[in-house]
Amino acid sequence: MTGLDPRHPMVFDARVLGRRAGAMVQERRVIPVTDGVGQIGTDVVAVVPGAELDVDLRLESVLEGVLASGAVGSVAEGTCVRCLEPVRLPVSATFQELFAYADRAAHHHQVGAQDDEEAHVLVGDLLNLEPVLRDAIVPALPFQPVCRPDCPGLCDQCGQPLDADPGHVHEDVDPRWAALAGLAAASDTSPQTGPSGPGNQEKRN
Ligand SMILES: [Zn+2]
Ligand SMILES: [Zn+2]
Repeated sequence: MTGLDPRHPMVFDARVLGRRAGAMVQERRVIPVTDGVGQIGTDVVAVVPGAELDVDLRLESVLEGVLASGAVGSVAEGTCVRCLEPVRLPVSATFQELFAYADRAAHHHQVGAQDDEEAHVLVGDLLNLEPVLRDAIVPALPFQPVCRPDCPGLCDQCGQPLDADPGHVHEDVDPRWAALAGLAAASDTSPQTGPSGPGNQEKRN
């Protein structure tokens, strides 16, 4: 990783901890989701550029580095999987990740004590919280977002939202019945020659 920009809103400075194990600092920061960050989530539901991340962060100096823990809240935008209307959903998540001192991380890598490719590393005394926030938010998003738990969805015949017209019905015209109806209509035009006993009348009613 190359140098981090300390002015970047997702970059935090752990220098204040002075590398004294046990030292702790808390910070709350409202971070705008920029185009550079991009959407956090899936095509169905995501925190999108223009939204804000409300981050409560605790930085704690430990032997190996800096432990970053806290909570993040935001509002995700998506589409109801039932009625396809746009939805806005609050999302919140917690996280706890270790940012290792670079020298120690290198040492761990050498001795093979830590084979975690997701390990985070401090750059000087700076840490980039973006991947941590992203990894916290994505699994907290609903897999199948709905506008409300009892959304009735769309009519499977005409595609209209059932919410707007819940009682509407369609004449159930199966293609095979439609063909029979056509035959019946054709036979009705000619004088009735077929059987017309009482049993047949009952069937037709
Ligand atoms: Zn819906
Ligand atoms: Zn319908």
